[in-house]
Order: sequence, then C-alpha cells, then structure tokens
Amino acid sequence: MPLYHRSLDFDALWRDYPPAPDYFDTTYRRSRDALRPAQEQRFQQQIERAWQIPFYQRLWAKAGIQRGDIRGLDDLTRLPTFSVHDMRESIARNPPWGDLIGLDPQRDDPIPLVFQTSGGTTGLPRVMMYAPQDREVMNINTARRMYMQGVRPFDLVQVALATGLPNAGFLMRESLWKYTGAVPIISGPGNQTSTRRQVELMKGWGVHFFAALGSYLRHVAAVARDELKFDVRELKLKGLLSWLGVDDRKSLEELWGADVFDNYGTNELGTVCCDCKYKTGMHVFEDSFIVEIADPETLETKREGERGTLIVTALFKHVAPMIRFNTNDVLSFVSGECPCGSTHRRLSQLFGRADNMVKIRGVNVFPEAVGACVAEFGQSNGEYVCVVDQTSASGREEMTIMVEAADLSVAKADLAAALSARLHDALGVSFRVDVVGRGELSRFTGIDEVMKVRRLIDRRRH
Ligand SMILES: [Zn+2]
Repeated sequence: MPLYHRSLDFDALWRDYPPAPDYFDTTYRRSRDALRPAQEQRFQQQIERAWQIPFYQRLWAKAGIQRGDIRGLDDLTRLPTFSVHDMRESIARNPPWGDLIGLDPQRDDPIPLVFQTSGGTTGLPRVMMYAPQDREVMNINTARRMYMQGVRPFDLVQVALATGLPNAGFLMRESLWKYTGAVPIISGPGNQTSTRRQVELMKGWGVHFFAALGSYLRHVAAVARDELKFDVRELKLKGLLSWLGVDDRKSLEELWGADVFDNYGTNELGTVCCDCKYKTGMHVFEDSFIVEIADPETLETKREGERGTLIVTALFKHVAPMIRFNTNDVLSFVSGECPCGSTHRRLSQLFGRADNMVKIRGVNVFPEAVGACVAEFGQSNGEYVCVVDQTSASGREEMTIMVEAADLSVAKADLAAALSARLHDALGVSFRVDVVGRGELSRFTGIDEVMKVRRLIDRRRH
C-alpha cells in the first residue's frame, strides 16, 4: 500500500524546495549564477523523465529531436512548444487521460495520486494527476505566495474558490494547512456559499484574508453595499489574495480599503509567480520553473518589457512533466530590481489570452482590455461581456460591449457614450456600447455560477 508519508523523502524535498520562511533567506535571494546548477540538474531530470512518456516521444520526434540532443538549459529553445490544443488532441487519441500523464498501472509501482481537472466548457474536462512530489512542490509554492503576501500562523483565510473538479480550491486548502500555519476556511464560490453569506462570515468571524478572483471581489463588495448596506472596508482585512487576470487592481483596492495581491498559475503548474508586498511585478519561483516570453505567432523570444505569450517549463514534475508549455497567456518581463531584494525575475500582470484575442477590422482586441476600461467607470459595476457579430450585408465585423450600470440612477445613454469614447481612445477601434441593468449579464457571464467568467461571445460564422 503506497502510504502518503512514506512515498516521499520530505527532508530532502524541503532542502531542495525550502518552504516559507526559510525560502526567503535562501533561494529567494540567491544570485542567478548560484541558482543555475540546481535548475540545470532538475531540467536534465525532467528531460529524462519526458523521454519515458509517449506524448513527448511523439512531439519531439516530429521536431527531429533525438535522445542526447538536449544537453542543458542552453538547448531549451530547440524543443518544440505545446499548448492545451495538443493536450486535447492527445486525449482524443488516447481517451480518457491522453498520453502525457505517463503512468501505467500494469507496469508502475503504485503511488498516491491527486486527480483534478481544468474547468472544461465543452466535452470532458482535461485531467491532471499529481504524484506526491508534484503536489508537495505546488503546495510549497502556493504557501510561499501567501507568506509573501502577509499570511501568518493563526490567520483566518476565507477562500471563495470551488472545491470540485478544478484544482485551485483544494490547492489553497492543502497549502494553507500544511505550509503556513494559517487556517483555511473554504467557503467556495457564490453557488456554494451565497455572496451575502460570504460577507456575513467574514464580518462575524473576523476573517483576516479573503481569497477570490478579481471579478468576484468586485461583485462581493457591490452585494455588501447594496443588499447588506455594509462597506467591506470596515472588515479591515489584512489583504486580498486574488487571481487578478486583467482586472484593475487600483479600483479593487479602493473598494476594499486593503492591498490586493496578484498571482498567476495554471492547473498543470500550480502557482508560477506572485506579487511580493511591493507589487512591482510577480516574482517567478525560479527553483521550480523556467519561464520564457515569446511572440504568439512566430514564438521568437521577446525582450524584457515586450508583450508575448508565456511559455513555462516545470522543473519538479513526475506525472505529466510540462516542458515548454505555451500557456497562451500574454504577459511581459518587468525590468529593474524590486525593493524586497529578490533576484528572481518578475512578470507583469496578465494582458489577456492570446487565443481569446479577436481581430476586429484589423485590430487585435483582448476582451480583458475592454474590461479594464469598463472598470474605470464608477457608474458601472464592472460587469461586461463582448459580443462579436458579422453584419450580413457588408460582412463587417462589429463588437458590442454590454455593460451593467451600477444602479438605477445611472443615465445609461451618457455612460454608453463616455465609455465608447474611452474604448476608442484606448484600443483604437469603435465599438457599440449597450448599458443594461444590474444583474442582466449574469446569464451570459455566469459570474455567480462558475470559476471562469465568460467575457466573449463570438457569433461570427467561421
Ligand atoms: Zn519583490
């Protein structure tokens, strides 16, 4: 029987991947040269492991890569990238898990496994399994994140993330519980604990941190104000642990009267990078990941400050190694040093999804960038959805931005005109803007129901 605590040499693991607070006195400040040998060694192990896995055998053979070709990190960019599209194809070819997982119950020794999925919208969701080492490193990184953002033992951390198939809610619980000494209170999203109730719990229990997506933070503050006549700033939270995406940090911090901290990660990788208390960009956990920014189309390496798609190589995985995983998320490297003294590279806030980008009359538009403009207007509650149509007569593409008004007193036509001008200014295209009443968009966006809020409806014929 593969007992969990015997499945891993924890002392060795913690030497390699120091949990907080040790991490901040060691790896976090180590010079880039001193960091490199560990990265090289871990990368070699990942390459060796990947050669055992049919997914990589096929992907790399197709690119003409042979065993022995990749001798170190200097050869990294010779390897092809892959994305969720390749993972979906692998699942279609080898249902139900695909051939990236790299486990064979017939041949391999049993190991304790965690099973989670992506938030799939059509068909079966993408499955990811985690061996003990995979899971523990993800726990350690996520806990480092929370420590970096001020979480300390005995703090109450209320987490409004789902604990179903998706990974994030469970990952938060495991990380808080095992590696921070803080107390996880997993309230779940709005369909598990109603938004009103979330506020009542925070207030009644004196919660210290609230963890939620940026869009949900805005929603909770509005519900508290309108339904409970309560200003969430009175909660005096120590901080908000968020997944901002492209959401506007400043307006959220004003709403809550507290710091809003960002982080970035995926189901396959866990937490990749996060803000420190200075919020100068998200520090990458470079003992666990190698990150690249590349042109979304040509995949050529981008320079510091230039936007591109984020490509991540994980250095710690046993099940489903991730080597040059193209996330399709558009970010950039941030230049300069951070006052916190970390040597690790920093990534900007997310600009948008490369594959969610819509070309409207020749201009690339991220729905998320539309959202950032909407958030600037106090007469809106920040809820929006972009609808793309093709007018039948001319074939001209039109994007309509539907926006919710903050309350009944808002003059809808005035807001629509002002927002339309702002969008044209910021994005260089004209859009139609429709202002609707509060709550009218939830049937499109699913904000009260799901983890991933829908912001784009594409009605064009392809
Ligand atoms: Zn810093």
